[in-house]
Amino acid sequence: MKNYRKELWFNTQARRELINITPDVQQCLEDSGIKEGILLCNAMHITSSVFINDEESGLHYDFEQWLERLAPEKPYSRYRHNGYEDNADAHLKRTIMGREVVVAITDGKLDFGPWEQIFYGEFDGKRRKRVLVKIIGE
Ligand code: ZN
Repeated sequence: MKNYRKELWFNTQARRELINITPDVQQCLEDSGIKEGILLCNAMHITSSVFINDEESGLHYDFEQWLERLAPEKPYSRYRHNGYEDNADAHLKRTIMGREVVVAITDGKLDFGPWEQIFYGEFDGKRRKRVLVKIIGE
């Protein structure tokens, strides 16, 4: 059995961003040489997410609006966590959007359903953060 590990780094311009990382993950899969197996992709921070959904700008706007209704960024004072930090909302948003995805590898490809794409969800950005890609198989 082969195994592969890589860290992808991000440094967003905005506090919140959704980035389609499917091409990066596909490159990892090609570099691994693995044809059949399992791919894990997870955020390595507790204020960002990795999730699978559609590459559609209207939906991305809807995610932003929905997350802001559930866990508004401001006022910062509404959260007990915001004593020395201002990112309580980012912790909550990350929990809603999830930590990781697992994708089957079949015949050297990400075995997606229709329209599935992998996204990095940043909720407390403007600093260097990373995503782990781990692939096992043969
Ligand atoms: Zn925090």
